[in-house]
Amino acid sequence: MHVFEKNSNIFNLLSDAVSEGILVINRDKIIVATNSRTDEMFGYEKNELKGSLLNILIPKSYHAEHENHINKYYKRKGRRRMAQGRNLFGVRKTGEEFPLEVGLNPFTLYDNTYVMALILDVTDRRLKEQEISHLAQILDESLNEIYVFDAQTLRFTNVNYGAQKNTGYSMAEFKELTPLDLKPEITATEFRKLLEPIANKNGKKVKFDTIHRRKDGTTYPVEVHMQSSIKGKENMVVAIILDITERLDYTQKLEIKVEERTKQLKNALVKERDLNELKTKFLSLVSHEFKTPLSGILTSATLVGKYTDAGQQEKRDKHLNTIKGEVRHLNNILNDFLSIERLETGKEIYRLTEFSLSKVVNEVIYNANMILKSGQKIDYPQNIDDVSIYQDEKIVTLALTNILYNALKYSPEDTEIELKVDLYADKVVFHVIDQGIGIPHDDQKHIFERYYRAENVLLTQGTGIGLNIVKGHLENLGGAIRFKSEENKGSTFTVEFPLKNTVKKKRDQKST
Ligand code: ADP
Repeated sequence: MHVFEKNSNIFNLLSDAVSEGILVINRDKIIVATNSRTDEMFGYEKNELKGSLLNILIPKSYHAEHENHINKYYKRKGRRRMAQGRNLFGVRKTGEEFPLEVGLNPFTLYDNTYVMALILDVTDRRLKEQEISHLAQILDESLNEIYVFDAQTLRFTNVNYGAQKNTGYSMAEFKELTPLDLKPEITATEFRKLLEPIANKNGKKVKFDTIHRRKDGTTYPVEVHMQSSIKGKENMVVAIILDITERLDYTQKLEIKVEERTKQLKNALVKERDLNELKTKFLSLVSHEFKTPLSGILTSATLVGKYTDAGQQEKRDKHLNTIKGEVRHLNNILNDFLSIERLETGKEIYRLTEFSLSKVVNEVIYNANMILKSGQKIDYPQNIDDVSIYQDEKIVTLALTNILYNALKYSPEDTEIELKVDLYADKVVFHVIDQGIGIPHDDQKHIFERYYRAENVLLTQGTGIGLNIVKGHLENLGGAIRFKSEENKGSTFTVEFPLKNTVKKKRDQKST
């Protein structure tokens, strides 16, 4: 019986009580004893390992290296831990390799040299270490700046790579600095005040915005998050810093946008107010404009009632015509008002139809005759018989009526007013030429503005709306209105309507 085995009972008793694996080999590297923890660790039955070469527990790739180690070890003897600074592996019966730590203790028994190895399976510890070193790596590689500093002295103790990169300081330089060296806008007293809420308290956080100054003196805006952290007995502070340059850019852009919108809103409000003012002005104008025609109607109606004789029909007709003319005038003012509203709200709907040009012109002139002053004469266009055009009949009527009425209104008695029509393939152009009071040079540029009236017409009735409305309609329809005028000589107003498909001359059609 082997000497060692004589004592094996004691060995077993002792060794099974410890949590480490115990393995004894002799000089020939043959396993002479194992405790149950070793058997369990390597996956063997009790006593199964006994008599086997130690190599059975060492991965093949380490065999040669291990052989050297053992031989050297026997030469030097002495207790020591194996695997200092490098990873050692064992192999289980299943072939699975696992990390372990080994402490070697040589001893001599009855002149035989043995080595007792204490073995620790460090699989779990290695996993934890990996986890920790991975966490450390994540912190270090984080692009956010992470600082650790002493809560008392404020000296930095650790600073991640992101911080070193962003600020330009090395770790060695950081050891000589405090957060105050990075924060030019914060004084020591202010900084200590900021730290107060988190001093000695875990789980609390302080957040604020400031700027950081790099080693090269440049600065950048940052958001700072600080929280306390206890390291052993020391109070530390961990600060995570976010570079918010981009966010501030975004905020600035947002502010500019808000400003823009506010401006737009203000403009809209001003417009709204102007519109209200215009309406008020218009209403007062209209009520004023209604007075004269209404009193005219009243007078005429009273007079009609007085001419009771059968022979006074002519007189009655005259007054009835005056009434008709005034009513039409009032009607026009009302139409203008409705037109403004529709133009303003974009609700005007245009209806393009084919209609006879001469019919419209005749109607306009017929109505205009009602307000002819004594001796005034309208020159009728000769070239429009049997011409049909495709346009909005109502608007053509409105435009012609407006410029023709103005010509009569702003011309003295005994003058001629000429209405000319030029027909083209794609447009029809009307000219109304008068020899009236004309428009003073300085007023000309304002003539199409709503409510604008030249200084030489202020004693003549009017609202200053008509031309503005006509211009609005023409712009919507793709046409144009313009004028030439000389004070005391006369004016020519020109209105142009586009024609998409038709300028039909029935007579021409017949002749071809
Ligand atoms: P109103 O109701 O005042 O006639 P309009 O909008 O039709 O309004 O015309 C605006 C202004 O243009 C007139 O007040 C007048 O000063 C000037 N005007 C328009 N047509 C003529 C014209 N044929 N001769 C002289 N002035 C004119």
